[in-house]
Amino acid sequence: MKITIIAAVAFLLLVVLVAAVVGGIAGLFGDSNRTDCAAVGSTTTDVAGYDPDQMANAATIVAVGKQMNVPTRGWVIAIATAMQESGLRNLDYGDRDSLGLFQQRPSQGWGTPAQIMTPTYSATQFYQHLLAVPGWQAMSLTNAAQTVQRSGFPDAYARHELAARIIVAAVHNATCSATTGEWTVPTTGHCSSGFGPRDGGFHHGLDIAAPVGTTIVAAGDGQVIDAGPATGYGLWIRIQHPDGTITTYGHNNRNFVHKGQWVVAGQHIAEVGNRGQSTGPHLHFQIEVNSQAIDPVNFYHQNGIELCR
Ligand SMILES: [Zn+2]
Repeated sequence: MKITIIAAVAFLLLVVLVAAVVGGIAGLFGDSNRTDCAAVGSTTTDVAGYDPDQMANAATIVAVGKQMNVPTRGWVIAIATAMQESGLRNLDYGDRDSLGLFQQRPSQGWGTPAQIMTPTYSATQFYQHLLAVPGWQAMSLTNAAQTVQRSGFPDAYARHELAARIIVAAVHNATCSATTGEWTVPTTGHCSSGFGPRDGGFHHGLDIAAPVGTTIVAAGDGQVIDAGPATGYGLWIRIQHPDGTITTYGHNNRNFVHKGQWVVAGQHIAEVGNRGQSTGPHLHFQIEVNSQAIDPVNFYHQNGIELCR
């Protein structure tokens, strides 16, 4: 009898243990923390007093708003709120347990710290709460922001309204790029020259034409193995991905990452330029598998994304 009970208890413990392990593994590989919006297409028009990091955060907020069909007024409220709460920076600290662009608090049900530190997630949360406020579009910016944030300093939001409008205007072309969760379109523009024979030589990448200053994002998670001047490419970045694939971004106007740095898919790494052997502003995007350049269009097509439409 005793043995039966011990066996039953042992079996139950085993079931609980297996469930915990499986749950833990599912949690590890769950995609809840992965951004589903990489903001591309925003020309990083300089706005006095704001650096590329802040403008990239603004572009993400606007792109998420667009994806959620939030009216433009909502983008301005979101930007003004992030300006007040974090200075448009993804802060890993704050008052009490506040975190991120909007200083949302895990203890108040806004999400886990990792979720809140993901700009796409925190912006989505902000908009969801804003859209739930009845008549928010008719409210003053301060009232709308205050209803979402329940801040101790509600009047502070309004003073950012003009600057928020200027920033929204600067990044209004930002959209969420197509992403499989693994690979992301590095920039938006029109494909001006494909992979293959060209001018008696061979073009090892794909050229995507876009204005100088257009956002370039990392195509996938990985480590920057080179960033700086390169013959022919002007200024380039090379990223090695976990499966050994290497992506190259050439003719950049400015780079925002350095050699050795780890980046995630969709991270703002550079802006489109016209440096090196280039006949107009574009991104030269190259993919190498086993040290062999392959056609980026085919590679993305196999991953369910059309690079050139
Ligand atoms: Zn090229």
